[in-house]
Amino acid sequence: MFALVGRGHHDFDDSVYEVYVPIYAGGERAGTIVISKPLHDAQGMGRTISILSVIASAAILVGFLYVMVTNYQYNKKLAALAYHESLTGLPNKAYLEHMLETRLEDAPGGKHAVLMTHCLNLSVINSVYGFDAGDRVVRELVRRLESFVNDKCILFHFATNRFVLFVKGYKGPDNLTALVKRMHSALEEPLDSLGVSTGILAKTGIVELNREHSDPAEVFTQALVALQYAEESDLESYAFFDGEMAERLRRQETIATEMRDFLLHNNTDAMYLVYQPKVDPKFQRILGFEALARMNSPSLGAVSPEEFIKIAERQDMIIPLGYWVLETACLFIRDLIAAGHSDIHVAVNISGIQLLHERFIDQVREILAKTGIREHNVQLEITESVLIEGFSHVYNTLNSLRDAGIKIAIDDFGTGYSSLARMESLPVDSIKIDKSFVDSILAHEGRHPILRDLISMAHNLGLEVVAEGVEHELQRRYLLEWGCDILQGYLFGKPLPKQGAVAKLQESFG
Ligand code: C2E
Ligand code: MG
Ligand code: MG
Repeated sequence: MFALVGRGHHDFDDSVYEVYVPIYAGGERAGTIVISKPLHDAQGMGRTISILSVIASAAILVGFLYVMVTNYQYNKKLAALAYHESLTGLPNKAYLEHMLETRLEDAPGGKHAVLMTHCLNLSVINSVYGFDAGDRVVRELVRRLESFVNDKCILFHFATNRFVLFVKGYKGPDNLTALVKRMHSALEEPLDSLGVSTGILAKTGIVELNREHSDPAEVFTQALVALQYAEESDLESYAFFDGEMAERLRRQETIATEMRDFLLHNNTDAMYLVYQPKVDPKFQRILGFEALARMNSPSLGAVSPEEFIKIAERQDMIIPLGYWVLETACLFIRDLIAAGHSDIHVAVNISGIQLLHERFIDQVREILAKTGIREHNVQLEITESVLIEGFSHVYNTLNSLRDAGIKIAIDDFGTGYSSLARMESLPVDSIKIDKSFVDSILAHEGRHPILRDLISMAHNLGLEVVAEGVEHELQRRYLLEWGCDILQGYLFGKPLPKQGAVAKLQESFG
């Protein structure tokens, strides 16, 4: 333990600098070492110390700068990674978000637009040719899109198959339309990287920024809604976000919120099932029902299933909704069996997303076990389009369901792409001929060679044939004559709530 004490004084006219170093031994002070230095030497030492401290400070400064620069470069690299898509090197969604934030703050109301382009068949390319090929295609597309980049247009890789072109200071909507059309044509060119003659089919949603836009998330939602409009349109490949879409968006949000609330708490009658009879063509006796979901929105009134099913699919609610539908239909079957109708079947519509869901088969089993329903009382209706997406997975699922004794029907047959030949290789029990086909019986004044052939070919493949949307006696007679197995339509009864359906069934057998 020691302490240093230093002091200067004059000794024989010579200035001396002394440093006292106390010495302690066994806790007691044993003495002091005095280091003295003439001051002229100390002045020299002071200079040396000054020089050394300058060098040390410089070294510290250099070290500090080095750490700063390395940190800066590291952070820059991190930022670059966070703000750029690694596959294409293009600025990404986070970058766009950041840029929009500042722009909306600094220059609200400037003539700026967000063009969100979806490359529709890119996911198909990935699943058919593999992800490496998909990556090559994406790079090729970026090269094409980069030809649109200039001081007014910035290109962003927004998501796997979506790009955004941010356009600054354009003149009017026509300029944007022209730009989008040129971009689409560029994307449609045959893909060199794949060596195939097909190009990319693209759709674009356009948002023109205005003073009311306050945050990037809102701009993205509007771009996606406009894009969705474009995707649903057969005529146009692009759409501008407008007031009508904003209204539709609000409506969709209301429907989604109410549906979510129903599925979580099940304490309103906002959603319920109705059952439409399926009859035999001759005696018109009820053989089964189709369960159809209904929504009675507390704030909007009746919402059609075509509308709310799509919303449920888009907003990740179709799995719980589908579960509720199947469970409710099974409880209805239990009531029918209790009333003595043990052979009746109830068909339930199943969305493609449900079929592709990994737990679908388990859920079906769970519901049957829970409600005590036998498999032969349940039929599942799937639409043709499902067979195109994720074919092998769907195929395996259908096979397992059928092995378990559940019947599978292809709904809306004749409106999609599948052919009867395809049905032969599929684990399917029946086809439901779409209403549009049945309608055309009237146009052909009761003669319809194609429909007649369709029925007999389906029978040759061992398929049961159901016709839906039968409204007229003429159609019934035609379908009876050509051997259609089951009919469904307003002619025999509209979809009815549970009690009405049971009463109709009793009447049918009364
Ligand atoms: P879908 O499965 O093809 O059902 C037949 C549709 O045609 C039903 O419309 C039914 O009410 C209607 N319909 C039946 N007979 C006639 C008729 O003679 N004339 C006319 N004009 N229409 C008739 P709905 O109930 O509006 O359902 C529309 C579609 O919504 C269904 O078509 C089905 O694809 C879907 N959907 C309904 N409920 C569910 C559900 O629980 N889950 C899923 N995934 N989809 C459902
Ligand atoms: Mg159906
Ligand atoms: Mg149908």
